[in-house]
Amino acid sequence: MKPLFLIIAYLVAVASPLVLSWCVGGPPRAIHQELASGFGILAFAMILMEFVLSGRFKSISNGVGMDVTMRFHQVMARTALFFALLHPFLYQGTPSGGARPWDPTRQLTLTTDFADLWSGVAGFVLLPSLVLLAIGRRQLGQKYETWRLMHGVGALLIALLLLHHTVYAGRYGAQPYMAGLWVAMTGIAVGSLLFVYLIVPLRDRGRRWRVACVNRLTPRQWEVTVAPAGHSGLDFKAGQFVWLNLGHSRFSLQEHPFSISSAPAGGPEISFMIKELGDFTQTIGQIETGTAAYLDGPYGSLSVEGRDAPGVALIAGGVGLAPLLGILRQMRLTGDTRKVRLVYGNRTVDQIAYATELGSEGVVYALSEPPENWGGEVGFIDAALIDRVFSSDEIREWIFVICGPAIMMDIVEEHLISRGTPAHRILSERFDYD
Ligand SMILES: Cc1cc2nc3c(=O)[nH]c(=O)nc-3n(C[C@H](O)[C@H](O)[C@H](O)COP(=O)(O)OP(=O)(O)OC[C@H]3O[C@@H](n4cnc5c(N)ncnc54)[C@H](O)[C@@H]3O)c2cc1C
Repeated sequence: MKPLFLIIAYLVAVASPLVLSWCVGGPPRAIHQELASGFGILAFAMILMEFVLSGRFKSISNGVGMDVTMRFHQVMARTALFFALLHPFLYQGTPSGGARPWDPTRQLTLTTDFADLWSGVAGFVLLPSLVLLAIGRRQLGQKYETWRLMHGVGALLIALLLLHHTVYAGRYGAQPYMAGLWVAMTGIAVGSLLFVYLIVPLRDRGRRWRVACVNRLTPRQWEVTVAPAGHSGLDFKAGQFVWLNLGHSRFSLQEHPFSISSAPAGGPEISFMIKELGDFTQTIGQIETGTAAYLDGPYGSLSVEGRDAPGVALIAGGVGLAPLLGILRQMRLTGDTRKVRLVYGNRTVDQIAYATELGSEGVVYALSEPPENWGGEVGFIDAALIDRVFSSDEIREWIFVICGPAIMMDIVEEHLISRGTPAHRILSERFDYD
């Protein structure tokens, strides 16, 4: 889906409870009370939308890119938290309402009945904890899978608590139409979790893959190839990625995103280039041939297919080569007539993977710690290197595909923009959302 359509859809989804509450109306109240309700309504709608922005919906993340989706998810979570924290404080100074038999729908009064408020209080405490735990995940040293489970369960709990609070304590949420809308929106949010973690695994449980081979590429990088077991394989575009589950049940949370480094034109087997990083990737070398695998995907928008440009520039740092290798292989296999140039940066010479296959034509190697007699570029991939490798016309007209360390990507993207590359000709994929 197109980014503009997605933004409009998001704004409509988040704003509609607010607009409908305004239409439902009620007796006039002080402005700060209306603001308090407004912030609460907005925060709850945004929290429910966070489920859909979890990155696992292809119609969203394939349209704008997974990293953009996840960044948006993070920013909106913080904004929703801000609104949610403001919500109760703006009620301050209001005479306490208590249960009033003549005002069962709370059109005229605010409830102070704890039976109606407990869920809001619990949500108020849990929401900041959930956001802070996500922000400080690395510093707390939690295992990624444990955090992910806690994040999902916590978010589900908060959604249910806030639904109760909105319907039982809300001036607007208590109205039958609005209650129906909130139940439906919460249903979509919870349903999206069930879809990703239950329905998709159930649907795909027969689409098993087998590990065909595991090869060491460099001291800390591996190539894993999987072959379809009894089905025709995956329909994907070069540069996309999948969630790879190696040796676990299809319902397991032990799955990791990896770019596909093979080309669709290369046949049904799929290869990954994997760098040792944490507890899972450090065990890649122990994976045995024949191990069952599941692939969820393809995801991502890093594709040059159908894009009109005289040339394709591939800028890779370290294992960021993976998706770019898929693109390069596809271009070579399909006889793509566009010019292509790969800039491949590493720290040391023994980190260079696929040197024989890549060759030297159209490939610029850069090392920040080169050996003696190194004939390639020296240093990091930066603005100066880009200017040495690409002419001004190429910078303006070619498509640039970038993947590597965040710092390298920021520098290259910024420089290209400053030199006149249109934003829509810069494609990038970040391996890290934090
Ligand atoms: C779109 C995308 C494509 C990627 N492609 C490649 C690739 O081709 N080759 C490669 O070597 N690496 C790739 N990565 C990074 C790879 O997913 C992580 O290095 C790997 O998951 C680390 O797992 P671990 O258990 O070894 O390390 P951990 O120490 O558990 O994780 C290290 C970091 O990796 C990330 N991570 C871990 N597990 C997950 C998960 N299930 N979902 C999302 N993020 C996770 C987290 O940011 C975490 O902090 C890609 C990441 C993304 C987002």
